[in-house]
Amino acid sequence: MLYEYNLQTPREDFINITAKVKEAVRQSGVIDGICVIYCPHTTAGITINENADPDVVTDMLLGLRKAFPDRREFQHAEGNSTAHLKSSFTGASQTVIIKEGGLVLGTWQGIYFCEFDGPRSRRFYVKVV
Ligand code: ZN
Repeated sequence: MLYEYNLQTPREDFINITAKVKEAVRQSGVIDGICVIYCPHTTAGITINENADPDVVTDMLLGLRKAFPDRREFQHAEGNSTAHLKSSFTGASQTVIIKEGGLVLGTWQGIYFCEFDGPRSRRFYVKVV
């Protein structure tokens, strides 16, 4: 089963999409399988990280800004090369195991849609097999 979701994003953020992914898995009826969460954008991504302390997202965004600063040497005319770098760093997808009808996530793990060049209308897909 394939599920599509739309998002309105801010300038930069990690948006917790765990509940939407869990709902897709529940709707699919798959008990034992794999779930792929996929982002079809080049300046956004999907990652799994802590969902308890919101300061983690703040620090991740700060860390990514420090790791991938804007550079005069960049040639891409759109001017958003740092967002492209961050997108490739987080990756376009994550795969999560489905066991007994639920996602196999650690206690502190959440699934995030990562926006690096918003605000934009975005979408992501959840494929359950
Ligand atoms: Zn670009």
